[in-house]
Amino acid sequence: MAGELLVTQDAGATREVAVGFSVRFGGGQPVVIAGPCSVESESQIIEAAIAVRAAGAQMLRGGAFKPRTSPYSFQGLGAEGLRMLAKARAETGLPVVTEVLDPADLPLVAQYADMLQIGARNMQNFALLRRAGRAGRPVLLKRSPGATLDEWLHAAEYVLAEGNNDVVLCERGIRSFEPYTRYTLDLGSALAAKRRTHLPVIADPSHGSGRRELVPALSRAALGAGLDGLLIEVHPRPDAAVSDAAQTASTAEFAALMRSLLIAPQTDDLQLLRGAIDAIDGELLDLIARRMALSGKIGAVKRREDMEVHEPERETAIVGRLSAAAGDALSAEGVRRIWDAILGVSRACQAGEDSA
Ligand code: PEP
Ligand code: MN
Repeated sequence: MAGELLVTQDAGATREVAVGFSVRFGGGQPVVIAGPCSVESESQIIEAAIAVRAAGAQMLRGGAFKPRTSPYSFQGLGAEGLRMLAKARAETGLPVVTEVLDPADLPLVAQYADMLQIGARNMQNFALLRRAGRAGRPVLLKRSPGATLDEWLHAAEYVLAEGNNDVVLCERGIRSFEPYTRYTLDLGSALAAKRRTHLPVIADPSHGSGRRELVPALSRAALGAGLDGLLIEVHPRPDAAVSDAAQTASTAEFAALMRSLLIAPQTDDLQLLRGAIDAIDGELLDLIARRMALSGKIGAVKRREDMEVHEPERETAIVGRLSAAAGDALSAEGVRRIWDAILGVSRACQAGEDSA
């Protein structure tokens, strides 16, 4: 790809893309977009929006214009669906992303959507890309299942070339020889897209696998690899979904997934908040146990070398470094008290008084 493309400027240094007042893609915290494949009714989209928000999603999705393989399949509720999405946003405060299929619909969709989705099938609809670049809304650009990385990045270039820098790339699975998964989620190319551009990149493991049972682990893989967010299909009654039922999670499955990602719920429901705390405590315990196992090994080295277990300078250096790293997230006093306890148990492990 030529070096002078806008999309490859500042390659590897992700620039933030803001959506509405609250959402920042590429700002360090992963952004999770969730909601049904299709908007089916006002009650369905509002129920979905309330549930995904409670679970911690920061944005709502839902298709009003649906790109269906067959012209005889449900095509979406169109303008009526957009109005339902706007109601769900008013109800929950979640910004909305929805697909625009036809360049002629752009003014209408842009009126309702906080972010425009260009779907996989339209990734190289250049007239649509150009108009989306002029619509005054951030764009979520899905990768076509048949597109190379360069084709995907050049599609983004069409939007950027119109003066719209607010593009988020979405890897949603490519066509491979494997029919068991509907598509093959290509995390390698998603990571390459992050290295080669300044754009935030998210993954859509729902379309990327076609199977709801694979969505949680693929989501953890995508965020573990360093992508900037997820798009996940969620429906209050997934088996009754009019489109993409097999890959759609229930609201309970989605809440469990968000707990496993350690993403905070947005709710004052004590049960949900405590569930999130319990998930974090489980991770902390695992990390602390791993730390203590290392302490045990260090204890053996110190005994062999005839060294003191207690090294106050090393402990002061650890606490100082962590207080600085914590920034505003935790007070220096808080860091000191937590690590006093950890280092105390660690010394006991090193001395062989506490089993690791
Ligand atoms: C969708 O997000 O509902 C959709 C149709 O996705 P894709 O364009 O990735 O198939
Ligand atoms: Mn879908």
